[in-house]
Amino acid sequence: MTPIHRIDVGGDMPYRIHVGPGLLDDGAALVAHVRGRHVLLASDGNVAPLYAARVIEALAAHSPVRVHTSNIAPGEASKTIDAFAALMHALADFGATRDACVFALGGGVVGDLAGFAAACWMRGIDCVQLPTTLLAMVDSSVGGKTAVDLPQGKNLVGAFHPPRAVFADTTTLRTLPDRELRAGMAEVVKYGAIMDAAFLDWLDANATALLERDDDALAAAIARSCAHKAAIVARDPREQGERALLNFGHTFAHAIEAEQGYAGGGGGLNHGEAVAVGMVLAARLSTALGLADAGHAMRLASLLQAFGLDTTLPSGLDPGALLARMRLDKKAAAGGLRFILWDGPGSARIVPEVPESAVLDVLQ
Ligand code: ADP
Ligand code: ZN
Repeated sequence: MTPIHRIDVGGDMPYRIHVGPGLLDDGAALVAHVRGRHVLLASDGNVAPLYAARVIEALAAHSPVRVHTSNIAPGEASKTIDAFAALMHALADFGATRDACVFALGGGVVGDLAGFAAACWMRGIDCVQLPTTLLAMVDSSVGGKTAVDLPQGKNLVGAFHPPRAVFADTTTLRTLPDRELRAGMAEVVKYGAIMDAAFLDWLDANATALLERDDDALAAAIARSCAHKAAIVARDPREQGERALLNFGHTFAHAIEAEQGYAGGGGGLNHGEAVAVGMVLAARLSTALGLADAGHAMRLASLLQAFGLDTTLPSGLDPGALLARMRLDKKAAAGGLRFILWDGPGSARIVPEVPESAVLDVLQ
């Protein structure tokens, strides 16, 4: 039997992340975080038919709590002010009080949107994250960032609002499309790259089991990733320093995503796929600047390829246009391009004022 992994996130508002199979059916554990009588179960049109009933039944078996469901259309296009407003109205119509709890059942889109709704309703109510994508399990459900997009850019409106708890039920990954699973692996590899060289070796050895969705392997990889994120977030909850290391590969990735117009399911790369390309570009930039040796960058690329991820820049993207996007990245500090660069397996650093010519070279 696969054990349940538990990771504690410290800081002002500590909470626990639970990882393993069958957590969505553990009504007693879920209900422990509901203080009042109202639960708003937010999900999307793909995930709700698969998993909402399990959560509702598990809760009903342990408490007379009232559950109201609210589903958005699947996909990043739903992470809007309008969808946020719809959740506010749902909470109002439901008669939700200050002790109401929002359950976010789905991928990063649902988690960010529902988390932001919880942050704002009556100036902040409890939120429990029930991530169902690998990306959300290892990244967006942990750390308290919540947001919606504007036409002008992603995540421009949001709040820091840590969840009360996170339950990552690995059995939900069995229905996740292959492409989404592989994309999530990019963020898992990221933790090894920036913090844990031994994890890179472990991922290499366990790639087949992970792609076959073996519960033990997935739970171990998710728990180790969450432990790394939890450690960073506890030390730097508001990204004033080292939390920026989690953006390894992301300056390139955000530029690629923006240039492709967040095409996602269509022609363009999704977030994890763009991060895979971005990490290899960042590694090559680090090599060019004399930080990491070229062999490390090549091994990082082959590990990502073992997870079915492409590591070359999609054709048709103009290097100059990508560079212009990077100058606009909201994480770019004044005074030059700031990158997370790589020292080699397990170590990265924040480097301000990287010369644009070096960046252009790796994009050519
Ligand atoms: P992410 O977590 O990558 O940010 P989304 O929230 O957009 O992304 O989820 C990616 C897609 O996968 C969406 O279409 C969503 O409905 C779908 N999805 C999420 N979780 C599951 C699951 N466990 N099984 C099947 N489809 C899922
Ligand atoms: Zn990311």
